[in-house]
Amino acid sequence: MSLKERIEQVETRIQRACEASGRKREEIKVVAVTKYVSTAETAAVLEAGLDQIGENRIEHAAPKWEALEGRGTWHFIGNLQTRKVKDVIHKFAYIHSLDRMALAEELEKRCSAAGITVKVFVQVNISGEDSKSGLPPEEVPDFIRGLSPFQHLQVVGLMTMAPFEAQPEDTRPVFRGLRALRDKLNEMKVSPEPLTELSMGMSNDFEIAVQEGATWLRLGSLLVGKGEEES
Ligand SMILES: *Cc1c(COP(=O)(O)O)cnc(C)c1O
Repeated sequence: MSLKERIEQVETRIQRACEASGRKREEIKVVAVTKYVSTAETAAVLEAGLDQIGENRIEHAAPKWEALEGRGTWHFIGNLQTRKVKDVIHKFAYIHSLDRMALAEELEKRCSAAGITVKVFVQVNISGEDSKSGLPPEEVPDFIRGLSPFQHLQVVGLMTMAPFEAQPEDTRPVFRGLRALRDKLNEMKVSPEPLTELSMGMSNDFEIAVQEGATWLRLGSLLVGKGEEES
């Protein structure tokens, strides 16, 4: 299948999921996760009109970013080591994986020195699986309150990863849990601005995530492809 066909199919499925749940298509943005593909394929994604690019490793992302001269808006979606923050902040407008105070402190320090602001999602481990990164839900209110002194971090919302389920329907409680947590945090007024964004939903489960309120989908294999072996 060509990239154009993939984009069309995903688009149709997003629209159907919106219709099924009474949501507006424009409430949902798509991050095209290019971690499996080459620079040339990433360029093709940008040319096809997808301008939100997601990468999970700075080593893979940096050469692409250089070659593409920073076209598009870049989202860092992987585990971020504190010592790599300095390489990430100038390239990525969004960090989806803020999960600890030491990382927040380093981001604040580097962004402040650079005179820039970065948008962050707090990653939450809703499913409770040991293998998943993210804060336990009960720690999130204090964590976000603790971010308020950091002038160069804009907390836009929450991110989670659902476990891979053979039946995508089984991911629904995870996405519903993230939305409920976001709503509770807003009721508690943990941050000066309400948290609006929910980064949730991947190739296997994005329709369920749309139905449960996702505002950012992170789509790799289904949308962009898995790279060489498919072409
Ligand atoms: C790889 C990755 C994705 C995309 O995964 P697909 O299943 O290929 O769509 C989304 N989010 C994160 C954090 C990832 O690492």
